[in-house]
Amino acid sequence: MMQSLNARVIVVGGGPAGLAAATLSALENIPTLLIAPEAGPDPRTVALMDPSLRLLERLGVWPESLSMISSPLLHLEIIDDMGNLITAPHLMFSADEVGLEAFGWNIPLGPLTVELRAAAERAGVTIISDTVTSAEDLGAVAVVETAGGQRFYGEVLIAADGIESTLRKSAGIAVDRWSFDQHALVTTFKHSGPHRGISTERHRPGGAFTTVPLPGNASSLVWMGTPPVVESLMQRSSRELAMEIQLITRGTLGLISDVMPPKSFPMRGLRARQFAAHRTLLTGETAHAFPPVGAQGLNMSLRDVGHAIDVVLGFDDAGSPAAMADYHDRRSADVTERQAIISAMNTSMLAELLPLDLMRVGALSAISAFPPLRQLVMRQGLAPRKNLPFAMRG
Ligand SMILES: Cc1cc2nc3c(=O)[nH]c(=O)nc-3n(C[C@H](O)[C@H](O)[C@H](O)COP(=O)(O)OP(=O)(O)OC[C@H]3O[C@@H](n4cnc5c(N)ncnc54)[C@H](O)[C@@H]3O)c2cc1C
Repeated sequence: MMQSLNARVIVVGGGPAGLAAATLSALENIPTLLIAPEAGPDPRTVALMDPSLRLLERLGVWPESLSMISSPLLHLEIIDDMGNLITAPHLMFSADEVGLEAFGWNIPLGPLTVELRAAAERAGVTIISDTVTSAEDLGAVAVVETAGGQRFYGEVLIAADGIESTLRKSAGIAVDRWSFDQHALVTTFKHSGPHRGISTERHRPGGAFTTVPLPGNASSLVWMGTPPVVESLMQRSSRELAMEIQLITRGTLGLISDVMPPKSFPMRGLRARQFAAHRTLLTGETAHAFPPVGAQGLNMSLRDVGHAIDVVLGFDDAGSPAAMADYHDRRSADVTERQAIISAMNTSMLAELLPLDLMRVGALSAISAFPPLRQLVMRQGLAPRKNLPFAMRG
């Protein structure tokens, strides 16, 4: 006898990817169940580019109240602060060069997650506050089992349960992992001068030091370095950190103050060898993780989400082998290419890799010298040039 379904789509994981997937699915009138424990507070901010904002708009969370606590990214600046003899030229990209008012917005991740969960409820998603312990492809349907002992049956599973995904393991999907021997310190701070909408990525030995505008004279900071360096920074007082930031920013933001308690994140690289199998579509960090250079992570995760729902809408059986193959093809090139570029850029800042550093300098010099290349990089930084999912199209 055919097992009756609890929902056509079952999404697992309540981070931004899972919440966005469940909401988009329900808004397309697909019966959707989300299994997700409540997410805790998160001090990170995320720079989301124009296509991602279009998706958030469709979900009903943007601009709304979030825009009041977020800041537009008018200019993106790259400064070579490696201290080497050969340095890359200073690069400044402006959104109006590609006909945009802003490249994107810097949005606090904690409030974004709260808004997305409220949007999922409004859209009619059935939310189960539990964790999944296992999943199985039963042939015609998939089943997930929760820690609370419940079983739910669906046509297709959308895995959004983070980097150590239970669903990915249950689907038997292998991953490639690599380590960067790097941590990222994340905090926010105030400054006496204006940021003028400029996000600045300073390439420094050990990793990038990136300031991103927040409303008023405030910025968020992602400071990457070797684990001992970041560990020692984590021990400093707010005043001591303000002095360190002051030295690195060299007065461009005025006087630094009010550095909030920082949090550190280990930098990990991961890519799934397949993006879908056994009625399971991988999204967000279940499929790919990499350092926050160039602000690509969640932008790419939201593209996963858009394509996952396109696949569900496009197939009578969204868990069929044909649907799995279609999703894999949609995501494979985008993820692989971006990870390669970001990994190379990030690795070039790690000590004792002079050839890679010269390649970084060469690439940045070429971008600076050739206007068409400059345009291409800006457009590629926003999103792939073709094959955007339905929910991200203008
Ligand atoms: C320092 C830093 C800065 C960043 N800055 C940017 C940026 O500027 N721009 C950008 O685009 N990206 C950025 N990123 C990347 C971005 O933050 C991540 O891509 C994003 O948060 C990942 O979201 P996710 O939903 O895939 O995973 P997660 O946020 O990890 O969510 C996974 C969820 O699944 C739940 N879960 C886990 N196991 C189970 C289970 N068994 N059952 C049910 N639920 C489960 C967890 O509780 C969690 O809520 C940054 C990342 C870092 C580390």
